Amino acid sequence: MNAHVTGLAARDTSVFADRTETRQLTRAEAYIQAHEFDRPTLVLDTEAVARQYVALAQGLGRAQVHYAVKANPAPEVLRRLVQLGSHFDAASRAEIEDCLAAGATADQISFGNTVKKVSDIAWAHRAGVTLFAADAEQELEKLAEHAPGAEVYIRIIVEATEADWPLSRKFGCSRDKALELIAMAKGLGLAPVGLSFHVGSQTRRASMWAPVLDQVAAIWHAARDAGHELTLLNIGGGFPAFYGESIEAPTLYAAEVMRLVHERFGDVPHVMAEPGRGLVAEAGAIAAEVLLVSRKSDSDLHRWVYLDIGKFSGLAETMDEAIRYQFLTARDHEPRGACILAGPSCDSADVLYEKRPVELPMGLRAGDRIVIRCCGAYTSTYASVGFNGFPPLDLVVI
Ligand SMILES: *Cc1c(COP(=O)(O)O)cnc(C)c1O
Repeated sequence: MNAHVTGLAARDTSVFADRTETRQLTRAEAYIQAHEFDRPTLVLDTEAVARQYVALAQGLGRAQVHYAVKANPAPEVLRRLVQLGSHFDAASRAEIEDCLAAGATADQISFGNTVKKVSDIAWAHRAGVTLFAADAEQELEKLAEHAPGAEVYIRIIVEATEADWPLSRKFGCSRDKALELIAMAKGLGLAPVGLSFHVGSQTRRASMWAPVLDQVAAIWHAARDAGHELTLLNIGGGFPAFYGESIEAPTLYAAEVMRLVHERFGDVPHVMAEPGRGLVAEAGAIAAEVLLVSRKSDSDLHRWVYLDIGKFSGLAETMDEAIRYQFLTARDHEPRGACILAGPSCDSADVLYEKRPVELPMGLRAGDRIVIRCCGAYTSTYASVGFNGFPPLDLVVI
């Protein structure tokens, strides 16, 4: 069910209550309602990011947060997180530079991409970054040559994720390979300190972590039995945001994940967590405009709604209709009906929701404002630079 526009009201920020529905406007949404925009614009509330950081960190306890920068690298977000004591997980030289520019120190930044450019590795090493991820022999060779002596954690591939946005088999390696890589890293003069994994993005319930943690724990204990002293467990991201389906509140969720970790791993000296979506998604909302509402024939049952934002201008996560955004319009009190939602570009792949249509007001018209909720993660940097001449997503930080 979509929420109604009820005017400006403080949002329930209770960190323990389950959230099933958000009726009230967030600060970002209220800002959109009060302003005009000439192009699709992401409004991002850094205080909401800060509140979410505090809530997550409280549940994570002694685990150190390394914010996954790719979720939203806005300088204001990075600076606020530096102030709060966050560390950072970066995937490239440019992301490391952004973190340093925001005031983070090199020892607070992990280079977590398992597929790194050699020139980026060398640069990061010179800049003082000492912690790197790897999941393959050649990556260890690159690290040994260009970041000699570095600490490295081995990324494990996990099966049977229940996440809404699974990260497939692109990253990570199997159990046997992990054990080989740990031994190889030692031989190359690197310091293999631990393991990492990613449970899959938007893992809605903490209990969904259990089977994945079982797999990683089996490898962890096998490595210890083989005589490798591991001190770092990187539990990655996966912390969910509210897209309309019930999720557990952040503190409760994070505390439950840590309980499951402790149950399987005992007292690991260093645990790090890399929330991306879970930290920034709910802090943002997009101001968009309806460009056209039409039917393909007078008897067509399907109503098409075209927006001025689409797959190539910020809403890439609608791919396979995996992430289902919620919408606000000024007509939400009117009767609703199903529609196919599409972006503005002339690429026929630019359809957002068709297999599972969305319910929008029947009176929706060209020119209407539409607010896309919970858009702070994986939107601004997923916008192409003006494909088809449509402007990329603009950003306003409040
Ligand atoms: C993208 C990414 C994250 C963040 O994932 P979320 O599901 O957004 O929390 C964390 N760790 C790594 C290595 C990533 O690539």
